[in-house]
Amino acid sequence: MTMKIGLVLLMLTLSLSSSGCGQSPLNYVASRRSNLFHRPDCVEAADIKPKNRIHYARREEAASDHRPCDICKP
Ligand SMILES: [Zn+2]
Repeated sequence: MTMKIGLVLLMLTLSLSSSGCGQSPLNYVASRRSNLFHRPDCVEAADIKPKNRIHYARREEAASDHRPCDICKP
């Protein structure tokens, strides 16, 4: 019973995150004004203004344009 509800919730979360809308967190954050990328919970990531913020779901995508941050080591 409980497992079934958990599975439904998981499916719902997956479909929401793949649709690209909503507040679902992505794995990596970068700024248009720097050459570093961060984990979303990094203090440096929190300083990035929303208009300069870029989100990446995959590390390879982030690393192709940016270097990993020394603080959060993404
Ligand atoms: Zn960082």
